[in-house]
Amino acid sequence: MYHYAEPVARLIAALNRLPGIGPKTAQRLAFYLLHTPGDEARELSTAILEAREKIHQCSTCGNLTDTDPCRICADHYRDQTVICVVEDPKDVVALEKTREFKGLYHVLHGAISPMEGIGPEQLTIKQLLGRLAGNQVRELILATNPDVEGEATAMYLTRLIKPMGIRVTRIAHGIPVGGDLEYADEVTLARALEGRREVD
Ligand SMILES: [Zn+2]
Repeated sequence: MYHYAEPVARLIAALNRLPGIGPKTAQRLAFYLLHTPGDEARELSTAILEAREKIHQCSTCGNLTDTDPCRICADHYRDQTVICVVEDPKDVVALEKTREFKGLYHVLHGAISPMEGIGPEQLTIKQLLGRLAGNQVRELILATNPDVEGEATAMYLTRLIKPMGIRVTRIAHGIPVGGDLEYADEVTLARALEGRREVD
């Protein structure tokens, strides 16, 4: 592989490892960055490093944040009696965009998947139970993805939490089965939230 000078080959390889970036796009981005005027490349590298350094998980909800607790957990105007459980921080962003939900979140950082060896203990379920022990929460909305892993996770949480006397609801199936919450449009997501049903 002598097509590229070594530093260029390294840059292309690094870009190629990013999700959704194939070899051709990686090459195009690398050459763009090499020719970019002024400080654009430096700004990009600084932004990546700063975000990596400053962003961590909220110790309460698991969302990505630069403050602890995060701005949502710290907002006392939000309904402290409802927690919406999602798989990924990107789902919080998607739900916040709907402006429909005024409660709190809990980010699991994944879903139960025996195929991939992910069990409940790999997720933030212990932290969630800790939050529910405070007696303040009246409803838990399960907004995991409508795929096999998301449904399995929802079922697991229902069995675990319903006996605690907390209302457990599941968002409606406006989102196509096998779909991903973060790709649902805002109206669909708002309707799914509104049409949530109690699970039994
Ligand atoms: Zn938080």
